[in-house]
Amino acid sequence: MLPKPGAPSIFILCETCFWCATYLDKTKVTDRCPKCSAGILSSFPIMPDESFVFGYDTKRGVELDFARRK
Ligand SMILES: [Zn+2]
Repeated sequence: MLPKPGAPSIFILCETCFWCATYLDKTKVTDRCPKCSAGILSSFPIMPDESFVFGYDTKRGVELDFARRK
């Protein structure tokens, strides 16, 4: 099922194991990490006209680069 036009997606990131996922429907977002089940999950809304790059570096940690979709 496609999301409604204009509805933001939700990006979920586990702060413990760095599991991450993008949900198109925020009612399906879990509050526990499905991988380590102990992590604190952070969520970021992603607007339909935004894109982002997710990166993980052992020195710098998690890096998210948001950009306007061209
Ligand atoms: Zn986790």
